[in-house]
Amino acid sequence: MPDLLAALRLRLPGIAEAAATEDVDGAFPAGSVAALDAAGLLRAPLARALGGAGWGIEAEGAAPLAQALRLVGRASLPLGRLYEGHVNALRLVQRHGSAAQVAAAARDAAAGLLFGVWNTDAPGEPPLAIRPDGRLAGRKVLCSGAGFAARALVTARPEATPEAPPQMLLVPLVPGERADISGWTAQGMRASATGAVDFTGLALQDGMAIGSPGDYLRQPDFSAGAWRFAAVQCGGLEAVLGALREHLRRTNRGGDPHQAARLGQAALAAETARLWVHSAALRAEAEPAAAEAATYANLARTAVERAALDVLELAQRSVGLTAFLRPNPLERLCRDLATYLRQPAPDRALGVAAADILAAVPAVGDLWDRP
Ligand SMILES: Cc1cc2nc3c(=O)[nH]c(=O)nc-3n(C[C@H](O)[C@H](O)[C@H](O)COP(=O)(O)OP(=O)(O)OC[C@H]3O[C@@H](n4cnc5c(N)ncnc54)[C@H](O)[C@@H]3O)c2cc1C
Repeated sequence: MPDLLAALRLRLPGIAEAAATEDVDGAFPAGSVAALDAAGLLRAPLARALGGAGWGIEAEGAAPLAQALRLVGRASLPLGRLYEGHVNALRLVQRHGSAAQVAAAARDAAAGLLFGVWNTDAPGEPPLAIRPDGRLAGRKVLCSGAGFAARALVTARPEATPEAPPQMLLVPLVPGERADISGWTAQGMRASATGAVDFTGLALQDGMAIGSPGDYLRQPDFSAGAWRFAAVQCGGLEAVLGALREHLRRTNRGGDPHQAARLGQAALAAETARLWVHSAALRAEAEPAAAEAATYANLARTAVERAALDVLELAQRSVGLTAFLRPNPLERLCRDLATYLRQPAPDRALGVAAADILAAVPAVGDLWDRP
């Protein structure tokens, strides 16, 4: 297996450069997705037996995937978001799909097709429905790569029982069709092509349903998988920290005790985030996953969010107004990170973790202290 991380590192400067120019509404980092493919990253999430590197599907892949997600996120948060979805989709297919479905997905990933996971239903609309005639009705929203991803793993429910557990469907898509990203007016993550996809009328084909109803939400996978978006966020945080250090060097202000203290605090927050991510990755990707993987990931995502919010504040305070003026890189990096920090149900994640800790038998000091 070639050194994937080395191949990725070679491409990071180009990816970071593209991220700066692609910070416009409606953009999609096609060249950077191709660069990931050229580095072998689109097939890396396949099991080694399928020609991949086991990233996100085998225990040995945990550490390199954690590093890759941070590196990609550091160079481009929109690309990191897209790559995280690709990894997640291939994990779900390999975990729950039939041998034929897994083989087909492996062929597609090896051919450079981008996958996504689109789970979010529009507030106030019925969830994406499977009609009795075998056609879909409704749409998904906040779909990254909408109009660009070639394979979408979506969750859908029978029309008559919208409260039923969701069924995963792997849907082949024609680029440009069914997608509407005009509503993506977020301040950051502009190049993630995040938008609505209307599946109404699409006929279900044999082999589209992946696993059984409810598999998508199966624990600990569902919660423990949060480590992956936290890893991408950690990369974004590191990019802000890097820009802060660069500013202090360039302006020769780093020796000032206030500035030095803030840089130290930001470095501390960044390493806290990295350690949480790494540790959560190992627990989530162990085979079987560690008993505490979901609780730990809920804490990890909370810790990374806190660390990132702290770094944003420290960087903006240290650099001042310049950090808000285009084309200073910090302006975009901060917008992207603040936007990508918004992930589902953060209060619930911390509350569930706290409830787990309340109910746990071991001494609190022994909860995470594994040999
Ligand atoms: C750049 C980007 C790309 C994305 N791409 C995808 C994608 O490809 N696929 C996909 O499926 N999704 C995607 N999403 C959506 C993402 O997974 C989250 O669903 C979304 O970002 C959460 O938004 P929110 O902050 O409004 O979350 P919410 O969960 O609504 O949280 C907002 C606040 O409300 C609180 N809250 C939540 N529920 C309740 C409740 N019941 N009662 C009271 N308070 C509550 C939360 O704790 C939080 O404080 C993307 C999001 C972003 C930012």
